[in-house]
Amino acid sequence: MADLSQGRTNVPVGGSQVTTAQTISGSKGLNFAEPLIFEMGEDGRTGVDLPDIEVSNDRLGGMRRKDMVGLPGLSEPQVVRHYTRLSQKNYGIDSGFYPLGSCTMKHNPRVNEKVARLAGLGDLHPMQPDSSVQGALELIDTLAHWIKTLCGMPAVAMSPAAGAHGELCGMMAIKAAIVDRGEGQTRTRVLVPESAHGTNPATAAACGFTVDSIPATAQGRVDFDAFKAKLGDDVAGIMLTNPNTCGLFENDIIEIADAIHDAGGYFYCDGANFNAIMGRVRPGDLGIDCMHLNLHKTFSTPHGGGGPGAGPVVLSEALAPYAPVPYVVHDANGFKMVEHEADSEAKPFGRLKGYHGQMGVFIRALAFMMSHGSDGLRQASTDAVLNANYLRAKLQDVMSVSFDSMCMHEVLFDDSFLKDTGVTTLDFAKAMIDEGFHPMTMYFPLVVHGALLMEPTESESKETLDLYIKTLRGLNQRAQSGDAEFFKNAPVHTPRRRLDETAAARKPMLRWSEPVDLAKAAQ
Ligand SMILES: *Cc1c(COP(=O)(O)O)cnc(C)c1O
Repeated sequence: MADLSQGRTNVPVGGSQVTTAQTISGSKGLNFAEPLIFEMGEDGRTGVDLPDIEVSNDRLGGMRRKDMVGLPGLSEPQVVRHYTRLSQKNYGIDSGFYPLGSCTMKHNPRVNEKVARLAGLGDLHPMQPDSSVQGALELIDTLAHWIKTLCGMPAVAMSPAAGAHGELCGMMAIKAAIVDRGEGQTRTRVLVPESAHGTNPATAAACGFTVDSIPATAQGRVDFDAFKAKLGDDVAGIMLTNPNTCGLFENDIIEIADAIHDAGGYFYCDGANFNAIMGRVRPGDLGIDCMHLNLHKTFSTPHGGGGPGAGPVVLSEALAPYAPVPYVVHDANGFKMVEHEADSEAKPFGRLKGYHGQMGVFIRALAFMMSHGSDGLRQASTDAVLNANYLRAKLQDVMSVSFDSMCMHEVLFDDSFLKDTGVTTLDFAKAMIDEGFHPMTMYFPLVVHGALLMEPTESESKETLDLYIKTLRGLNQRAQSGDAEFFKNAPVHTPRRRLDETAAARKPMLRWSEPVDLAKAAQ
């Protein structure tokens, strides 16, 4: 976050402790020191030339504004430069390697964008009558067909807007099924492995369930005996991620599915890691009752900075009747949306969001599927797993791999290789930024100490991976040589350096206010 106390002055790049050469302007080469838009320009300057208006009939009843609105006074070129420079401060998958574990930051093929921009799709309005959007409804239906095919499941709810929203959808379907069975009061407990993504226990709790944590084995998988011991007739279900957040396949998954079903519960699978198994494993064959897919991860929609996303949920025979409205149906007369519970022949638990889902993400996901074909999708997941294992094999002699076995699409290290160096996982990640790499996921999952979770995806070349490996090996050598100071100072090449991330999250300064003129205030 920008240090607002600096007022209108250009803050030197890097703040106070700069170790590299300082410049007068604060900018360095193409790395511009960019103040807030409110700190630039002057009152009254404007980029447009509008005629004065005469307010003849003031109907605001004396509430008319007396002061200036306080908008920044800037010319058009100043505005263009400001936002262009800000856009250049973004690190994205289009600028470099982004090995953030659990996020599947893969290349978004440009054909997706081309299709999403076709006028017949890009200019749609969600309020158009069904008869005028037959092609769009067919697209949703076709995507649903391929999702069901890839997952080996009979039904899919398309409307959820992200992974966590899909979890909510799935757990609400489970709740509706349990209530329908007359067990709404008694089946209140949901089992969640301790390595779960934070959204899993949060979702279960939001649906009114109590969360019961299942411990992991020393091999980073669900402790099957501990899981079995927790089963009972108060259990609504289990929420399990497979491959799990340690990047490992849950080998006991079929036994887990059988056991939860025998106990009368349902099996929710978090499918955010589908990139590891797409085209190779069908969740329906594993006994899963519902699973969300993160279309924005596995099927390539760019999703940095919080959106957009789509989290369709595949459903088993048992849960399909409870899928929320709206959904697409078709008959001889074409496609239509079933919008209201009263119009449904099933038992929808309700509606999750306005409109029908994230159309832009649907288009990209279908373009990704069609351009890859079934062989291409299988190749993608195979390469994603190969790339993660390449990193593991090339780094495991210098960094401490947490679980000594083949991994799936991501590889987990802990911080024991940094023991006695004085360098922490955080310091190590900051030094990676100076090297032009986005850091991996840090301190997650919580089951290992100081976690470093890397997910290269299938889209990285061997050259990129080799440079990354060389960089991490070099940084490790530096850490082992006793140069902790170097890491404590990193990053030095960024516009801002170590930020107080806790304060920024807990006490965000969302409003700019004019810096106080101390001399004036003293008078
Ligand atoms: C990303 C992710 C989620 C949440 O998905 P969103 O689309 O960010 O809501 C849930 N579980 C796992 C394992 C994930 O990686």
